[in-house]
Amino acid sequence: MTDLVRLSRAYLGVEEKNALLSVLDEGYLGMGQEVKLFEQELELFLSSKTKVACVNTGTSALQLALQAVGIGRGDEVLIPSITYLASYQATSATGAIPISCDINLETGYINLQNARKKLSPHTKAIMPVHYAGDVGCRTEVFNFAKKHQLRVVEDAAHAFGGKFQHKRVGEDGDILCFSFDGIKNITCGEGGAVVSADLEIINRVQNLRLLGVQKDTEKRYSNSRSWDFEVTEQGWRYHMSNLNAAIGRAQLRKIDFFLQKKQRLLKCYLNEIKECPITYLKLAYENMHPHIFPILVSKKDRDPLRDFLKNNKIETGIHYKANHRLKKYQTEDCPVAEEFSERVISLPFHVGLTETDQKRVIHSIQAYYRKR
Ligand SMILES: *Cc1c(COP(=O)(O)O)cnc(C)c1O
Repeated sequence: MTDLVRLSRAYLGVEEKNALLSVLDEGYLGMGQEVKLFEQELELFLSSKTKVACVNTGTSALQLALQAVGIGRGDEVLIPSITYLASYQATSATGAIPISCDINLETGYINLQNARKKLSPHTKAIMPVHYAGDVGCRTEVFNFAKKHQLRVVEDAAHAFGGKFQHKRVGEDGDILCFSFDGIKNITCGEGGAVVSADLEIINRVQNLRLLGVQKDTEKRYSNSRSWDFEVTEQGWRYHMSNLNAAIGRAQLRKIDFFLQKKQRLLKCYLNEIKECPITYLKLAYENMHPHIFPILVSKKDRDPLRDFLKNNKIETGIHYKANHRLKKYQTEDCPVAEEFSERVISLPFHVGLTETDQKRVIHSIQAYYRKR
């Protein structure tokens, strides 16, 4: 009996277990010291310039980042159609309208010619998605945003730990959001972070994550809370808990190992799938801390290949269904995103993937094309 080769999975050890036990022993499970320490360690890891506010999910991070820059009802945000549904739902949760933009087939990145056509007097922000962890087109996005006076809220859910022009992703920019959900580059169990050098934004996110209660964050950090307070706007229960932060702190210490392993898996996939009509994306692979490994195949082969791999106990994924095809977000004119979502297939990719299992994936793909 061969085991299922999983598409993704968290890589956890005794360090995470011990970290959780010490929070349980301490008896402060909500937001407190651990969260503060995790934020400080993230700030050290990213740079000395940006500040970090941790929240309960990456989706909340995006929603609060948009709210913190004043985006709300009637405003429009440019988003590539190929992304996790979370980018769209986080945007519509603020009352703003996600405007689907087409992508570049070779990279999955937002297509700025198409984005330009979708500008309106209501456009307030652009949300580039660093697909698979690739941040290659960041400069173009910032030039575009500057020209059209837009805020940039980066969906960097895939990109934690990667580099851009010799800097860490998160060292500069306008506002970045990371996800630490169960399968991301590092996990907190569930978690997310808003990163910015704009202290006003971080401050607002700190209030918004605690029901809008002003200045409560400082109290929580010392395992206390405000009993007398002021509230001026709609807030949410989106703070991170000590339990989740403790997992995240243990994971952050392992990031060099995670990155090395992912880079090794990446090279193996890029070099060893021989004689198959597959297309690799043209990403800045060497700078990435890659989150997923997507390839493009023909429309005709995509589902049969997935079935073939499934029968060989290999799990695959589709990153992503085009969001502009969903009833809630229906718009026209993203033909490349449609093609991409019908051709893309993600191969098993996680730190715990063994060489033997990766070889099995590669050999099965080759077997599919020989038999076809
Ligand atoms: C995971 C993810 C999110 C949301 O993060 P959660 O922590 O799962 O809420 C947003 N955007 C993209 C592209 C993601 O992959």
